[in-house]
Amino acid sequence: MSETCLFCGISSGENPANIVYQDEMVTAFWDIKPIAPVHILIIPNKHIHSLNEISEADGPILAHMLFVARDLAKEHGVDEDGYRLMTNIGENGRQTVFHLHLHLIGGRRLMGRIVS
Ligand code: 5GP
Ligand code: ZN
Repeated sequence: MSETCLFCGISSGENPANIVYQDEMVTAFWDIKPIAPVHILIIPNKHIHSLNEISEADGPILAHMLFVARDLAKEHGVDEDGYRLMTNIGENGRQTVFHLHLHLIGGRRLMGRIVS
């Protein structure tokens, strides 16, 4: 855990968030500035800076993040119409919070290309 990390603070309960799911490996919560009716962030409880920093040992956590994303999409009723899962990496990827997270975005028809 990084003491200065916003998302470590959310997974540990120190920082407030609207948490929709949590277990020993991951935490999922609503994005504070949603860009769609469903916009949930799924993070590992363990601090990982970005996808660049994953290791083989993180495999089970990464797989679990995908399963949780799939289940939350279903729970929030966007699985059949479709949704987008996204992770931004580094400067050019416009990552703004440096704790790995998946954006689960759905509930409206998204742009055909990611333009911004
Ligand atoms: P990134 O740009 O790093 O891919 O995504 C960071 C996301 O975190 C953004 O969509 C932003 O709205 C969200 N975010 C930033 N600060 C907070 C916060 O304090 N609480 C919550 N719930 N989301 C946040
Ligand atoms: Zn962190």
